[in-house]
Amino acid sequence: MSKKIILTGDRPTGKLHLGHYVGSLKNRIAMQDEYEQYVLIADQQALTDNFDNPEKVITNVLEVAKDYLAAGLDPAKTTICIQSQLPAIAELTMYYMNLVTMSRLMRNPTVKNEIKQKNFGESTPAGFVNYPISQAADITAFKAEVVPVGEDQKPMIEQTNEIVRSFNRIYGETLVECEAVIPKVGRLCGIDGKAKMSKSLGNGIYISDDSETVKKKVMGMYTDPDHIRVEDPGKVEGNVVFEYLDVFGTDKEKIEEMKDHYKRGGLGDVVTKRYLIEVLEEVLSPIREKRKYYDEHEDEVMAVLKSGTEKARKVTDKTLEDVKNSMGINYFK
Ligand code: ATP
Ligand code: MG
Repeated sequence: MSKKIILTGDRPTGKLHLGHYVGSLKNRIAMQDEYEQYVLIADQQALTDNFDNPEKVITNVLEVAKDYLAAGLDPAKTTICIQSQLPAIAELTMYYMNLVTMSRLMRNPTVKNEIKQKNFGESTPAGFVNYPISQAADITAFKAEVVPVGEDQKPMIEQTNEIVRSFNRIYGETLVECEAVIPKVGRLCGIDGKAKMSKSLGNGIYISDDSETVKKKVMGMYTDPDHIRVEDPGKVEGNVVFEYLDVFGTDKEKIEEMKDHYKRGGLGDVVTKRYLIEVLEEVLSPIREKRKYYDEHEDEVMAVLKSGTEKARKVTDKTLEDVKNSMGINYFK
């Protein structure tokens, strides 16, 4: 039996943080044995809203790749590849653009939201509005059946499957529909207590942060603003320290005891924070060690990217050939 194909990826706009670790990386590491997994570093998509800052995108391709390897993605099992080096994706995008109306693109709730957030207004780049089509090209180029995504990315999968159905209806059965798999874990909040840890909010702990930085970030974490003196009863809900202990701690009994003590009063934030630092160090120190190795051996990281991209190139070129054959665009055959 052949393994099912997964496509996932990231926009290389910054290093990966603990939100990525719990929300996607851990899942990818768990899936890499059972699935044929491709992880795409989507530099072209990152350029749609960073076209004036290519340096940021280019340098982060390598940083994200290091994060992957350090966190435990195994290049023998997972194919890591770079979008811009897979020209079939851009070509597929071109054909798919004819199958989607402008009004459909503008209705995409995720894109609409992002346009507002980024204050594009009348200056929204066409490439940005078009990125759901390019994402459909990413997914279908690999004939992916399973696409793990965050809740906010669901409209992208719907758009992809609409394109697949249109294509197959017009040109004949060629492309494969995919299924979105939404991780059960909720979002990890930011160290400031905001609902989501996010690169652009600057409220993250990065998996590449050194132990001094992690310490500082935890010590400055949002807790319960009304818990002023140690003796005061404290709130556990919305207290970032306890939220993280729930996600990363393994000694559940100890954590429950700490929560009871905190609620009763008499347990200070410094104590809970010191414990969280210990818990996070346990998760992060092996990753940090491996990442240090890759910092010192960037050529190895580049070699992984090169061979992954070469493999992906064969797969995506084959899909493009199928697509052009179905359309009858193969003049010199
Ligand atoms: P940006 O601020 O640029 O949007 P980000 O930090 O939100 O960056 P993304 O690249 O948008 O990160 O996230 C990619 C994917 O990583 C998400 O779809 C989600 O699956 C996962 N992810 C990101 N942040 C979190 C988080 N705080 N909790 C859980 N999962 C997350
Ligand atoms: Mg985001």
